[in-house]
Amino acid sequence: MPGVTIKGLTKRYGDLAALEGLDLRVEPGELVSLLGPSGCGKTTTLRLVAGFLRPEAGEIWVGDRCLSSPTSVVPPERRRMAMIFQSYALWPHMTVAQNVAYGLRLKPGVPKAAREARVKEMLKVVQLEGFESRYPGELSGGQQQRVAVARALVVEPEILLLDEPLSNLDANLREEMRFEIRRLHETFAITTLYVTHDQAEAMVISDRVAVLFRGRVVQVGTAEDLFQRPQTRFVAEFIGKTNLVDVIAAEPGVVTRGALRLRVSLTGLMPGASVVLSIRPHEIGLVTRGQCASPEHNVLTGVVQRASYLGDAVDYQIRLSGSDVALRVTAAPPALVRPGEAVTLAVAPEACVPLAEGRFAC
Ligand code: ATP
Repeated sequence: MPGVTIKGLTKRYGDLAALEGLDLRVEPGELVSLLGPSGCGKTTTLRLVAGFLRPEAGEIWVGDRCLSSPTSVVPPERRRMAMIFQSYALWPHMTVAQNVAYGLRLKPGVPKAAREARVKEMLKVVQLEGFESRYPGELSGGQQQRVAVARALVVEPEILLLDEPLSNLDANLREEMRFEIRRLHETFAITTLYVTHDQAEAMVISDRVAVLFRGRVVQVGTAEDLFQRPQTRFVAEFIGKTNLVDVIAAEPGVVTRGALRLRVSLTGLMPGASVVLSIRPHEIGLVTRGQCASPEHNVLTGVVQRASYLGDAVDYQIRLSGSDVALRVTAAPPALVRPGEAVTLAVAPEACVPLAEGRFAC
């Protein structure tokens, strides 16, 4: 089972650079999601890997084969890859069994009986036994997507490419299919690239997530890495909710903003340097009457500006005393403080994550 290596991939449409030197390594048997806002180049990357487009610069390698470069592109049918699209792309005039068998019929040397057995086996894997004679028009969206998955897997591809495969499904089914795709990946362990703009989907399905911004990978890591250790303002804001506070490094492990003084876990900041801190709303504790904040924590005071009940949480906005900073704080219900009331907050130094401000910050 080979991996995929993408080196310095650049693709232009006229003056627009859809990809600008994109680098990514997908290990053998790994599922990596390409996650990012609309127009950041996710589909373009997938189409280049599939061999539908030629890059202006860079290379795509699968194992020890270079499949794409500016001078040579191996055609899609010779790449040993399968692709699953948002639209399912099933043949409407073929039954479920014929759709799934389609790829196998193009493969030389697979006898009819073996083909039929493989199709049956695949339909069982995607839980569509008994649907063999139905036409796509007689299936729900989720069932059609399962047929598309079976059709892709039946040819035993080396690489699987999925382009927003769940976005046409309703919210409940989408959530169920995430677990299904993860289960299939754990069963077959095919090296997979999965395009999505849905953060939760990427986090559930992937071994690692590559966050794209303006045609480049800006950070790649496990869901936990990206959430706990974002490297840029963009990733911190894109993966989950966060508070971003511009501060100045004052002394080892301490940053300030006017009268606000915070201890942070990182000690190597250059005094006087501008730093952006990311503080997740759920990492900020409300210190209620009668409680004492731990001496290890940063203790802050403020006034509640807004308290919104969200069912499983309360989302507060709290203006810090003597400061222009307002923090979002997420706490378990019920609401303990109301707008206009004074409140004390406690934040651990390790919850104040300094970001590496770089050229991708926006
Ligand atoms: P989305 O989440 O909206 O599908 P994406 O991240 O998949 O977005 P791409 O489809 O890869 O983004 O497009 C990247 C950029 O390239 C966009 O600015 C898009 O408008 C542009 N683009 C894509 N295909 C073409 C094309 N055939 N001709 C011209 N521009 C294109």
